[in-house]
Amino acid sequence: MDAGQGRVYRPDAAGGGEGAMRGFWNPQFDEERRRFDLRGCCEDCVYLVPEDETCAHRFPNWEHRRAYWDGLREGQHVVFCKDFESA
Ligand code: SF4
Repeated sequence: MDAGQGRVYRPDAAGGGEGAMRGFWNPQFDEERRRFDLRGCCEDCVYLVPEDETCAHRFPNWEHRRAYWDGLREGQHVVFCKDFESA
């Protein structure tokens, strides 16, 4: 049985240690993140360096950028950053 079935955010069990941070995008997740103004992207994080849009912790941040989330489609991964800190 799929433990994440029926949930808006379904962790990817195959993600190993990243399982809780990496889940499958679906339209309900997208609708709710917009409706409730979910803050989880680099643009909302204190560690984004505005001059060059890199991460102050030197993390590769392409998966955490808002434009990337905006382009996600069914079955693709939405990835939350473990070091996100709300700005
Ligand atoms: S800590 Fe994570 S969310 Fe924050 S800027 Fe770096 S990669 Fe983005």
